[in-house]
Amino acid sequence: METKIVKITKLNNDAKEKLRQAAAILSFGGLVVMPTETVYGLGGDATNENAAKKIYEAKGRPSNNPLIIHIADPRDAEEYCHTSPLYYKLAKAFMPGPLTVIMQKKDTIPTSVTGGLDTVAVRCPDHKVANALIRAFGKPIAAPSANISGRPSPTCAKYVIEDLCGHVDMIIDGGECEIGLESTIVKIDGDTLTLLRPGAVTYDALTMVCEKVKIADAVTDKLKEGETVLSPGMMYRHYSPNTPVVLLDGDDGRFIDFILSEQQRTSGKCGVICYDGEEKLIGENNVITIGKKDDLASHGKHIFTALREADTFGVEIIYAHLPPKEGLGLALYNRMIRAAAHTVKKI
Ligand code: AMP
Ligand code: MG
Repeated sequence: METKIVKITKLNNDAKEKLRQAAAILSFGGLVVMPTETVYGLGGDATNENAAKKIYEAKGRPSNNPLIIHIADPRDAEEYCHTSPLYYKLAKAFMPGPLTVIMQKKDTIPTSVTGGLDTVAVRCPDHKVANALIRAFGKPIAAPSANISGRPSPTCAKYVIEDLCGHVDMIIDGGECEIGLESTIVKIDGDTLTLLRPGAVTYDALTMVCEKVKIADAVTDKLKEGETVLSPGMMYRHYSPNTPVVLLDGDDGRFIDFILSEQQRTSGKCGVICYDGEEKLIGENNVITIGKKDDLASHGKHIFTALREADTFGVEIIYAHLPPKEGLGLALYNRMIRAAAHTVKKI
């Protein structure tokens, strides 16, 4: 299949014409990759079973792993699921934005989109291009992250092209994603929220809106043999480069010492993802920095790119800091622990 690649940074007349073309592709059941503030999304018509099948195929994703549907206005959820006052409290606080809410679905959404579940995940992106595309299309867009299943999510068009060129009808290049980590996912059950995937809307922020917020075990823990999860996407190996990743748990001084000795032991064949400034101590060869130590937003924005780039080094192993579990750190911890298939080394 030929993939049309278009660039949209401003919503001028030229962009509007490109968005009309993209909306037409979606209407005919085709696939369009769109930028959002979290990561790029592999979009198709959320009301069309066939489009859902194509999304699963293009991504190589198991069809029991449900898709998030993207709407232009929080109130549009009414047509697709059973909302509640708690949904509207969340919407008021966090939408548009990086929060996905799971509710009971209505028949307007086929079960092929929801991986056979009777619930649906809804998000309203805070991104002018995504929002304009959903409005131009006039229906919700089902969109998982625009990577091949299991690989790090793409935060710029280069990686989308690497994974999906030839498998989708159009890729809209909207530049670098502002947040770089996928949305926070919560499930509503009565007056309780269960946090299924942490993201830029943090646990603490959720507790300001809802008194009862539980964190699903799978957010931080390894699945036990045969255990099922509330969110099928929380498989234990995910976001992974091909090179093994090991997370180092220890203070920054020990981190530097450990890396220096590993660089010697492997004759430089180890990759490192570290904080700004650390490259001055360990050298710049096979090293990627993701921001200042305390700038978790910068780590979030750069981590998936760092994982992909480190994978091109041709090294035997990639080392990175074990992220903290507080605030935005929980989202980083959740992604990195999967990228590392739960391999943590105490140093
Ligand atoms: P991605 O589309 O790559 O951002 O991943 C979407 C995540 O949302 C996956 O982990 C899915 O398992 C999860 N998800 C989507 N819909 C539902 C749902 N109805 N119930 C539980 N998890 C869901
Ligand atoms: Mg994904």
